[in-house]
Order: sequence, then C-alpha cells, then structure tokens
Amino acid sequence: MQRCVLIAPASGWVSVLEEAPDPVFADEIMGAGLLIDPTEERICAPIAGEVVLVAETHHAVTLRAWDGLELLIHIGIDTVGLKGEGFRVHVAEGQKVAAGELLITADFDFLAAHARSLQTPIVITNSEQFEITRRAENQLVCAGDFLMEISARAESSGPGPSRKAGGQNAASKKVIVPLPLGFHARPAARIAAIAKKFSASVTISNAKKGGNGRSVVSIMGLDVRHGDKVLISAVGADAESAVATLASEIEAGLGEDVIPVASRAPAAQQQPPTQALELPATIHGVGAAPGVVVGAVRQLAQKDWTPPEFGAGPALEKAMLEKGVEAVRRRLEALAADGSDIIRSVFDAHQELLEDPELQNTARALIDAGKSAAYAWRTAVREQAACLSALHDKRLAQRADDLHDLERQVVAAILGADQESISGSFKKAIIVADELAPSEFVQCLAGGAVGFCTSGGGTSSHVAIMAAGVGAPLIVAADEKARAAPDGAAAILHAGRGELRIGANAAEIAGAEDAVERRKQRHAEALAKCAESGRTADGVRIECMANLGSVEDAARAVETGAEGCGLLRSEFLFLQRAAPPDENEQRDAYQRVADVLGDRPLVIRTLDIGGDKPAPYLPMAAEENPALGLRGVRLTLQRRPLLETQLRAIMQVAPSPPDIMLPMVSGADEIAAAREIFEGALEAVMPASRPRLGIMVETPASAVLCETLAPLVDFFSIGSNDLTQYVLAMDRGNAALAARFDGLHPAVLRMIKMIAVSAAANGTPVSLCGALASDPAAIPILIGLGLTKLSAAPTAVSAVKAVIRSVEFSDCVSIAEKALAQPDAAAARRIVSARWPTIEDWS
Ligand code: PEP
Ligand code: MG
Repeated sequence: MQRCVLIAPASGWVSVLEEAPDPVFADEIMGAGLLIDPTEERICAPIAGEVVLVAETHHAVTLRAWDGLELLIHIGIDTVGLKGEGFRVHVAEGQKVAAGELLITADFDFLAAHARSLQTPIVITNSEQFEITRRAENQLVCAGDFLMEISARAESSGPGPSRKAGGQNAASKKVIVPLPLGFHARPAARIAAIAKKFSASVTISNAKKGGNGRSVVSIMGLDVRHGDKVLISAVGADAESAVATLASEIEAGLGEDVIPVASRAPAAQQQPPTQALELPATIHGVGAAPGVVVGAVRQLAQKDWTPPEFGAGPALEKAMLEKGVEAVRRRLEALAADGSDIIRSVFDAHQELLEDPELQNTARALIDAGKSAAYAWRTAVREQAACLSALHDKRLAQRADDLHDLERQVVAAILGADQESISGSFKKAIIVADELAPSEFVQCLAGGAVGFCTSGGGTSSHVAIMAAGVGAPLIVAADEKARAAPDGAAAILHAGRGELRIGANAAEIAGAEDAVERRKQRHAEALAKCAESGRTADGVRIECMANLGSVEDAARAVETGAEGCGLLRSEFLFLQRAAPPDENEQRDAYQRVADVLGDRPLVIRTLDIGGDKPAPYLPMAAEENPALGLRGVRLTLQRRPLLETQLRAIMQVAPSPPDIMLPMVSGADEIAAAREIFEGALEAVMPASRPRLGIMVETPASAVLCETLAPLVDFFSIGSNDLTQYVLAMDRGNAALAARFDGLHPAVLRMIKMIAVSAAANGTPVSLCGALASDPAAIPILIGLGLTKLSAAPTAVSAVKAVIRSVEFSDCVSIAEKALAQPDAAAARRIVSARWPTIEDWS
C-alpha cells in the first residue's frame, strides 16, 4: 500500500488532536490530525505540495499534496479574529512548495498576548480518503522530524454516509451569512459535517465561485464574509432536507454569535464596484450593429456558478448531466421558436454544440473519473473553448463565447440555479454588461430591451450578428465606466458613432427621438430608391458596390441596390476547415456569387489569410506581430500552389471571369511574381476574356509607391481598414484604441488623396473598399478627394447611395480640403456635420 510521511512543521510538543481547546478540532469535525505547540516562529510545510488556500487572515494554510491529500495547518486556536495581525505569509495560492519550506512566520509575543492558544492543529481535511497509520504523540520534536505517516483508505470513493443515488431531486436556497467572521475554519467544518450526513451532493456557492459542501477546504476557499449571500444547492434523494438543514444552521450562526444583516438587493440590481460615473457622460465603444435608440440604462450582472469538483457517483452525475442538457435544449428550442430567422439559426447552432459528441464524451469521462456533472461539463466546454481561442482567429474565438454561454446555462440547470436566469420587463432598456451571451441577448430583447452596450465582445460575435439581423443597435469594447452608470439613467445609444450618452437632458432626448424617427423614414425612402444609380445632387456619377463574404451577402447586396461587388473576401471558403478547397469547389462557389450578381461586375480578392487568420492546413511559425507578418500575397507567393489553384478557379467562372485583386501588396516585386502565376493560369484555363489584375492599396508602402505601381496593374482599391491600421500604427482590433481608430485622421486622408491623384495621373481606376465607404460622414470627403467608386457593406449600400444623392460635388471638394487641414479625425467629423447636420442619421 502507498504511504507518505509528514515532517514536523516546527519544533515543539506534539499531542493528540483531542486535546485541542476547540471541539471542531478536538471532535475531528474538521478531520483527523494532531496538535503541535510550536516553540519557534517559523512554520514550514510538513510535506511537498501545492498551496491551495491561504486564509485572508493569514493564520492558516492548506496544502494539496500526495495523491490529493489536503492538509490544513491552522496556527493557534481562535486566531481568525486577529485579522492577520501577528502573521506573515511567505507563500501564495497556487504556489508549489517543498517539504520544510517556510509557510508562515508567527509573532509569538503578539500571539501570546492575543490568541487563546498557540497550539497548532495539523489536520487532514479529507480524512474520509486518508488515514494516519503512524504518528508522533506526546513528545518533543524538532522541525523536520517524523510527524506522521499517512496512507490512502482502500475505499475512498468519496465522503458521506451513503454514496447511492436514491433519486435525482435538486433543491437550492439562498441565505445571507450572519457570521461576523464569515466561513472560516470552524463554521466550514460544521457545514461539511452537516453536509456529510446527507446522501445528496451539496454545493455552496457565492457570487464568485462554488465549492463542495463536504469539503472544508472548498468552503473556506469561497472566502465568504459577513453579509455575503450564498447559494446552497443539493442534488440527490434528500436534497431538500440537506438544503433546509444547512440553510437554517447557517442562519442560526453554526454555533457562532450572529450579527444580523440588512437584506440586499438582488444581484442583478446591484451596481458593479466601478468608479462613480459623473453624469452626463459619453461612453465610447465600437459600433457592432448600427442604429440609434433612446432608452434607460439597465445594468446586467452575469451569473457564473462554480460547481463542486467531486460528484456523488457516475450514475447520478450522468443523469444530472442529461437532465441539465435537456433543460437547456428545451429552453433553446423555445427561444428559437420565438425569434427571427437569424436568431433561429444561432440557436440551432447552439443545439448542435450542446449535442457535440466530443463535448459529451469528455464530460462523461470526467464523471467516470469522479467529477460532478456540472464540473465535468464546465471542464469539457472550457477545454474546447480554449482550443478555439488559442487559434488567434477572432471569428473562432468569438465562437468560444457561444460555448461559454452553453457552459453557464447547463451548469446553472444542473445546480438548480437556472431560475436565476434573466426575466422580467426590460421595456425601453439599454442593456449595459461586461459580456452578453446569445441567450441573454434574446431574453433581454424579448423583455423589451432596445439597445445594447458591452465592455467586452466583438464585432463578429453571434450577438453582433443577431443584433444586426433584428435591427437592435449594439456597441462593443465600450469603456468600462459604463458599468458604473445607474440603472434608470436616461440614455441615447448611437451605435454608428460608437457612443452611449448617459444622463442626457430633456433637450438631447427630444433631439435624439426626432433623429430616430427621421432615420426610420429616411432608411425606408433610401431602400425604395436603391435601384437608382449613384449620383451626387449635381450629377457626378459615383459607383456604389458592395463588399461580400458569402453567397448570402451577394443576395443581400442585390436587394439593397449594389451595382456590383468591389471586394469578395475569398477567405470564407478557406477558414474553419481541415484542408483547402480544391479548384472545382472554389470555381463552383465563385460561380454562385457571380450568378447571384448577374451582369454586375465582380472583383475577387485572392486569399488574405495568415497572420491573425491561420488555417490548420497552413502550419506557420508563431509570429510576434501577426499584422506585420506573413499574410495576404506574401503568404500565397510562398505557397504558390494555393495561388495557382485559386487563379485557375476564378478564371473558369462563366460567362466571363471576374476581376482579380491581390491583398497586402507592398512592392512591385510582389506584383511581378503574382503576374507570372496569373499568366500561367491564363494559359492553362484560356478563359473567354482576360480578367483584370488589380491590387489593394492598404500598406503605406503601396500608397507611397502608387506612381510606380500604377503601370503594373489594371486597378487599385484602397483598403482603408488596414491603411488606417498601418498609418496610425494602431491595431484595428484593439478595443482600447477603438475610439481613436478613425480613417478620417488627416494622415490617412492625405494618403488617400495621394493615391487618388497618382491613380488619376496614370489613368488607373481606383475605388475604396474599407469601412470608410460605409461611413456617412466619410462619404463626402472621399468624393471630394477624387474617388468615384465606393464598395460598402451590403446592408449599407442603399444609405450610401442616399448620402451621395444628398451632397453636391463642389461642396465635397471644399469640405475635403478643410478635412485634410484638421488636427484630428474628430475635427474632420465636426466640419462634415456642420455642413450636413443630419448626415449621421444614415449611420
Ligand atoms: C481593408 O483593409 O480595408 C479591407 C477592405 O480588407 P480587410 O478588411 O479584409 O482586411
Ligand atoms: Mg485589408
């Protein structure tokens, strides 16, 4: 049988635990062990292990050691009340320590005067799994001498009187803790002792985490303090009486004096502990779904229950997992049934994730290894979510958010805490949250919420897609100060501007309400006129194309009046798969897009993959700076077969091949190398006509070299997203820079002017296909700088055409000149809105 030996943590007199002047130790409620009365102030680790808990009050440390043994070293008796005075801790939670390594130094002069006793219990808190087979007793030891020998019990399937599942009842109750010192060692031991009397598995959770109700260490690790609210939940035949007994014992103080606590508001109503926000205030973020709404702030607190690690046996826990998954499946079905197409498709995807065999198998294997259902589910989901996040592909990382949504829902369902889910009226609420899960978004929407602002989140998350689909404005990556806004404060959410105005006065509200109404009417009118070709009020022709990323986008673009496609991002065919699409698959996909567009022109951009958009079939060395790394044409020139196949596929589109555009070009050498492959593909395919070969101008190098590059290509398209990123040296995905990442910065505008002038001088057609083309305030400036073709987001095309119709070319030229001379982007925006006060109604 395996055994381990503990050494004395300090020199001193060793006696039996029964002599401890505290029944929690003496009666072994906490577990078996012994007492040492130390004669030296340095208390060391009796065994090598990991520090799992350091008491807030520094008087106790718990180690997890050999084979899961949990050992509490509790210095003195009744020392929790000293609130840390007299102790110095030398280790941190999570730290690995060697046997004999210093844990705590105790100030004996102080303790002698203030503590009831210096006798230090060394206790095995999971004694149901381990037994002491030999021990020192009633003798003096020196630090490092033999203290005790421990072996694992033969039958250690878990604590408790009965491990048999007598049923699958679940019960839960919240109580407010009236114990003045919270759940320190003594009350934790009492809770564990009570929980062990029941067959149900018990979980004690607070707002931060949850712990096994039978484990003293888990309960102490919750750091529950006076006035905290805890949830007691139990699963098993006698769940209800376990919860009722524990609740009444905790409310009665578990043998300690109680100090009553005034009851608190429910968690969802509490203000998060952020700095006070002085009103009125304008919060900046990134617009993820456009629109303007007026409403009242409603803070949303996220509930995140942490389950107990160990379960009550595989049979019961697997049944609980099934029950939890089934409950969430039913809820998703109900949410999908009540929602629009886009909401339905998101929840259909969630249902598939819920049934994912990989997830289910991992969770079941963990349950077989002794974990609880909720713990196993959480671990399985987190493992998979971590894999997605580690891919550094923003789109896949945002799918990880969907997994976390399911994680929370299933865990809450298993723990019986799902009645806590969002409910009630959110009439005219602007929801403010750290993150928003798809299920929360839909529930808020169903309750009447009109807009959303999150400090986390991303522009391609499922919540962003749903919000855009149902026309609910959303800003993400918003300043965290928003979380300090009081519930009920009047607010205006202007998602196009990426702004949430909180504490707006009556005049602002009235103005915003007018703008909302105007906006609705204008968008309806714009859509009605979307088939008209783009032309300024004084007749200058401006072509309006759309940027596409799928066949569905093409259909949407046609509906909103796009005159063609200025950029098909071909990455949609290459990401999230194990092998690249072959020539036929690519040809068919491009053909479908071309067929939807009919005789409208189509520009297909070659693969802009690599850097932060890796593909599993393109193993690449990790890059410290992916935005400046091997991406776009740099990558495809290194992987020539990829580019050759893609060019051949594009050239086979009938009746005539679309135009071809190279991304991330920085010099003539890249164009020459790509042209050689292009000519080879032409020879191989021999299409009906010769496609034009153009480049994205999105690196400062290509912008500066336009004169040189113009004769080498058939057209330019300015990628204002990357151009802004590289000119301003600001990561386009960095939330902290979102408010300052603006293509109307004079440095970017001057680059755009330079490109337009060089292109015109060389007779090279030029368009712009970054996000600036969908930005109403940017459109007159771009026209004034000489651009006659814009390619915008499909949903923005009708509004872009309407903006173009509303401005005169001569005005655009003079406003563009002024914008170039402004000190920053905000000043440029001010001069546009001074000239066209309602132009932002289009955003
Ligand atoms: C751009 O950089 O402006 C652009 C259109 O390309 P992408 O956003 O796909 O990088
Ligand atoms: Mg780009």
